[in-house]
Amino acid sequence: MKRVVAYLLAVLIFITVSGCNKEDEAKEYTFFGLNTVITYKGPAETAKEVESLINDYENLLSVTRNTSDIYKINEESKATVSDVTSSAVNDALNISKITDGAFDFTLYPVSNAWGFTKSEYRVVGKSTLAALLEKTGYENVSLEGNKVSVPQGFMIDLGGIAKGIITDKISSLLTEKKVESALVSLGGNVYTHGKKNGKKWNVAIRNPFEDGNIGTVEVSDMAVITSGGYERNFTIDGKEYHHIIDPATGYPAHSGLSSVTIVSKNATLADGLSTGIFVMGYDKGVKLWQSRDDFDMILVDDDGKVYVTEGISKDFKGKFTKIGK
Ligand code: AMP
Ligand code: MG
Repeated sequence: MKRVVAYLLAVLIFITVSGCNKEDEAKEYTFFGLNTVITYKGPAETAKEVESLINDYENLLSVTRNTSDIYKINEESKATVSDVTSSAVNDALNISKITDGAFDFTLYPVSNAWGFTKSEYRVVGKSTLAALLEKTGYENVSLEGNKVSVPQGFMIDLGGIAKGIITDKISSLLTEKKVESALVSLGGNVYTHGKKNGKKWNVAIRNPFEDGNIGTVEVSDMAVITSGGYERNFTIDGKEYHHIIDPATGYPAHSGLSSVTIVSKNATLADGLSTGIFVMGYDKGVKLWQSRDDFDMILVDDDGKVYVTEGISKDFKGKFTKIGK
């Protein structure tokens, strides 16, 4: 009898231990890539694969690495590129169209002039910007199969969408490897894979004005991607300049929004739209949301007011005003 009790006790302890918060115990892996800190919480066997996937795609899509397809296009105005790059350019063209050109991946000459690409910041004058804008406009990018070409002097930059593209690749990898639960954060842009202990993941949305959050959103199998001027900026003579450029003026975009978070199963779309809607502003952004059913959003305006679209309003914890269809 004693032996039976001891056996039952042992089984009970085993069940308790093995059933307790597996994911809480999942180790977090940190690596550097895409000019930011990347964290991955998931099975140890996949951490290295995720890291090398990011590095491989960065090698193809980076605007500064001289190994990349993008670097080649910018050096030679035309190039035959990998399938990954041609599909990325195709995605960038689509988002540019969807956002009516607010997302424009040909602003590299302008970002360069402001010094965002090398962190050598300066203020750029109106006439210089006008001349540089002559060499921008996504409509000028030609994509035929794997051949990409741009007019002389034009340069492309997938910085506004690359994290999303890579996130979608990570998501496919995790599905392929049958990983049940994982969380990856590319500099605060999060992808939640599966659930955490059977519950949705809780993702914090950063306050664009100071340390801390404006709320949290509960999601599963979703990308949560934020664009905000606070992510990269500099101040000269008391004026702040940030890295998201308004293609109409060449100046940092000031649409009345301080941050735009997109929640979508499609991380590429989420990344492109977060940048595009940051430029478009509230009214146009809401119209775009109303016309589609493949994303939701959390907007913070320049006064700190928070707006959440109805698709995720029940999953958002924090103070907000609901946006309806
Ligand atoms: P994100 O952090 O996704 O909003 O992307 C910002 C990055 O996208 C910048 O660092 C630039 O590389 C690029 N970028 C800046 N302005 C735009 C724009 N209007 N459309 C597309 N990409 C942009
Ligand atoms: Mg983006």
